[in-house]
Amino acid sequence: MKDWNDWNWQLANRITTLEQLEKYTDLTKEERVSIKEASFRFTWAITPYFAGLIDRTDRHCPIRMQVVPTAEELFDDAGVADPLDEEKHAPVELVIRVYPDRVAFCIGNRCPTYCRHCLRKETMVGKPDREFSDDKVAAGIRYIREHAEIRDVLLTGGDPLMMPDDRLEDIIRRLHAIPSVEVIRIGSRAPCTLPQRITPELCKMLEKYHPIYLNTQFNHPREITPEAEQACARLASAGIPLGNQSVLLRGINDNLPTMKKLCQQLMRIRVRPYYIYQCQTLTGTRHLRTPIERGLKIMRGLQGYTSGLAVPKYVLDTPYGKIPIAPSYVVGREGNKMVLCTYNGNIWREENPPEEQNVSQPQEMPQPSASCACSSDRL
Ligand SMILES: *Cc1c(COP(=O)(O)O)cnc(C)c1O
Ligand code: SF4
Repeated sequence: MKDWNDWNWQLANRITTLEQLEKYTDLTKEERVSIKEASFRFTWAITPYFAGLIDRTDRHCPIRMQVVPTAEELFDDAGVADPLDEEKHAPVELVIRVYPDRVAFCIGNRCPTYCRHCLRKETMVGKPDREFSDDKVAAGIRYIREHAEIRDVLLTGGDPLMMPDDRLEDIIRRLHAIPSVEVIRIGSRAPCTLPQRITPELCKMLEKYHPIYLNTQFNHPREITPEAEQACARLASAGIPLGNQSVLLRGINDNLPTMKKLCQQLMRIRVRPYYIYQCQTLTGTRHLRTPIERGLKIMRGLQGYTSGLAVPKYVLDTPYGKIPIAPSYVVGREGNKMVLCTYNGNIWREENPPEEQNVSQPQEMPQPSASCACSSDRL
């Protein structure tokens, strides 16, 4: 079908009403009410392509649960609107700066499909669709130019690939021209929810501005379709390293077999698993949040049981930056031996070379602050 493969057709025909949704999934009377109630509060829209992945009869379909709103979003007393305090970290309107050497630059607030777990669902994404004005974008670029310590710019939003190629190119070209910007990264879920967006023309444009990296978000192995595979192949063939940032979601992917299969299938389509995010304590996501212990168990079940390349980092994002949450394989010390544990439970004692006296630490080695409990001395 010619239109189906046209990304603008996919956007123009997004599912935003119950009547349209019922072409893709069966709904009970209660579910219809539930979706209606949630839609007064939160935006929803689903590309026909992504809706087509919904299993019609499965009420707990992992695709459906990510994108079809439910009244459960209205019952969340712990969640807050802006868990990362991003509004406080914006030196100019569209730039979020938490780290000295890199920024997130939010150049739009629209997405092909709105995720129920979206981190910015209250602050930016899915508010009335708008393209941020040229003036605001120019102010962001100026800020990045004037702060030469920023060497890595992550284009995000919203989805930067919602804009037409020429507008996106204009922004990338201006960033690329800044001598202190060494790397441009794009955060986009289009390879997963709108793979038709990844056209040969887009890839040809992007490859002029290398190094360009793209991180996407696949959350379930069922999302890895021939269309997604083709989109990723086009990007990878344009020399764009691909990473995946999945979100750990209750009842969707918070079990080892699903996560392992996802990571392995991503490797097959040339996407390197990069992060698994702990779902933020964010308004309207209580039903999707899962205990950190579950995430740790999944990490234990990945490490060593599959290729290290297929093992992402499990992270919690906070207003102060991302914190890796990792199981420890260090058991303790015996004399001058370090006791370690292999992935499958074997104990290994390793002769531990002594710290040389009188050798000063290299200047750039950051020391944990005195108050930080994670100091390595606690071993
Ligand atoms: C996640 C994030 C980045 C990029 O972080 P990496 O860990 O380098 O991928 C940059 N800025 C902000 C504000 C972020 O939240
Ligand atoms: S694609 Fe990303 S920014 Fe867009 S709705 Fe989903 S999580 Fe939010």
